[in-house]
Amino acid sequence: MKKRILSIVLTLCMVLMLVPTTAFAEGITPATPQTDTDGVYQIGTAEELYGFAQLVNNGNTSASAVLTADIIVNKGVLKADGTLADDTSGFTSWTPIGNKSNRYTGKFDGQGHTISGLYFNDASTNYVGLFGFLYSGGEIKNVGVIDSYFVGWGQVGGVCGLNDRGAITGCYNTGSVNGSGSNVGGVCGYNAGPITGCYINNGGVYGKNASIVTDCDVKSDEEFANSTVCKLLDTALQNASSDVRFCQRIGKDASPLLTYQFDSIDDHTDDNPKDHICDICGERLSDHTGIDENPKDHLCDICRETLSNHTGGEATCTAKAECEYCGAEYGELDSSNHTGGTEIRGAKDATCTEEGYTGDTYCKGCGAKLSIGTAINMLDHNLEKISAKDATVTETGNTEYWQCKDCGKYFADENGTDEIALDDTVISKLPPEIIEGKGQSITAGEKKELTFKSNAAFSDFIRARLDGKTLDEKNYIVKEGSTIVTLKADYVATLSAGEHTIGIVSESGTATTTFIVNAKAVVGNDTKSPQTGNNSHMTLWIALLFMSGAGVIGTTVYGKKKRAK
Ligand SMILES: [Zn+2]
Ligand SMILES: [Zn+2]
Ligand SMILES: [Zn+2]
Ligand SMILES: [Zn+2]
Ligand SMILES: [Zn+2]
Repeated sequence: MKKRILSIVLTLCMVLMLVPTTAFAEGITPATPQTDTDGVYQIGTAEELYGFAQLVNNGNTSASAVLTADIIVNKGVLKADGTLADDTSGFTSWTPIGNKSNRYTGKFDGQGHTISGLYFNDASTNYVGLFGFLYSGGEIKNVGVIDSYFVGWGQVGGVCGLNDRGAITGCYNTGSVNGSGSNVGGVCGYNAGPITGCYINNGGVYGKNASIVTDCDVKSDEEFANSTVCKLLDTALQNASSDVRFCQRIGKDASPLLTYQFDSIDDHTDDNPKDHICDICGERLSDHTGIDENPKDHLCDICRETLSNHTGGEATCTAKAECEYCGAEYGELDSSNHTGGTEIRGAKDATCTEEGYTGDTYCKGCGAKLSIGTAINMLDHNLEKISAKDATVTETGNTEYWQCKDCGKYFADENGTDEIALDDTVISKLPPEIIEGKGQSITAGEKKELTFKSNAAFSDFIRARLDGKTLDEKNYIVKEGSTIVTLKADYVATLSAGEHTIGIVSESGTATTTFIVNAKAVVGNDTKSPQTGNNSHMTLWIALLFMSGAGVIGTTVYGKKKRAK
């Protein structure tokens, strides 16, 4: 783009035209900007920008200024391809700030604003740019020059034509810069001071450099559009401890880089990461506080950082607490907060023999045992009094006692405290005695049955005894009535002379009596045979025996069983 036109005629013209152009187009009337309390001019309009240029070029070279807004001088100076508009007739021509006679030594801070539409088109002029001549002590920073067109002779730069020991920081130029002579650059034509963090989209950063140029580069239009340059500029600003930042609406500010004092935080970009910080300019756009609407999950809707903890709700032994804010379950079960009711387990009624139990209380929710029950006192026995009864020979008696109708236990007292066995109440049968057959006597060798009756119960019969020895049961018969023992005649005939003792042994005792076997008389002295009578008796007994054979046998068997006891 830089076109060097070698023309002797133009060279001569240049020499004649070293005086800067001071003519203004009719569109803009210069206005002196207001100053703040520090005397810094506050430039917010094109008129004020022109007024500031006039002020400096009239000799107030150390005046400092800031931009308070983006300044638009002309619109559509460049076409989309970066070349000059076809019709330039309506453009107001620019007057560079500072010239060879009035070298700028003030501090100009664009505060991230742009100046758009500067138009200077005089191929015979030196010191051309936003600033014409920057001198030692002077500073230009944080300003973007866009949609602008500069043509001069030499020392032509988008930001500054000639920099003699001044400083240029954080600036950019996407305008067109051309010169017919020497030292033409996108930022500075002839540079002899530090340039830091400045970017252009065409040509070179400088035409000639005699100082230190740091973090400056030529970037493509795409890099200007996608915020690459913006971020580089902001890094430069940050390094310079500046509070202002460039920013850019990606997609909207696609063509030239723009700096904005955005009306809304929405103009900033906070996509990656979503952290409330503008991805481009680094400005904090919003705060966590209160931003948790959809969903209400305690997380910042923007950055997903946790803003608050779950709260409220009540944990029970079976369910965690439900957050009153987000509805989620959280925390742990509360094993001490039982729910779902309780139930009693292991309850048992008391009886007269066992204590009862009220049962243990369990949580129906979690099954935990909540409390232990207590014993229930035993019930009183349901006592029935059994009166005392005297014993008889055939029947036992009993002492007075009480029996519980429920548990069946026996007690010696009416309060049921002295438990006894039923046997303890039994009064033994009275001892039996011979009630028939006492005092009998026979003659030795006489075959005669001898019958004895005990008043003991027949069922109690055990055995018969003669003279202290158990009688062989073949020698007697026993039958009921109460207990009748009859010694058989054959056996009786074998008994020796003398007194014999018969015992009828029963369970209730032994009834005894004696009988006499008399010595046998001398045979010769006998007038009648005693055998006869005996024989007739014996015959009678044998007859009876046969007549009731079955009954006798039964009786005998029964007797054996009793004896076996
Ligand atoms: Zn931003
Ligand atoms: Zn957040
Ligand atoms: Zn919650
Ligand atoms: Zn529970
Ligand atoms: Zn009982």
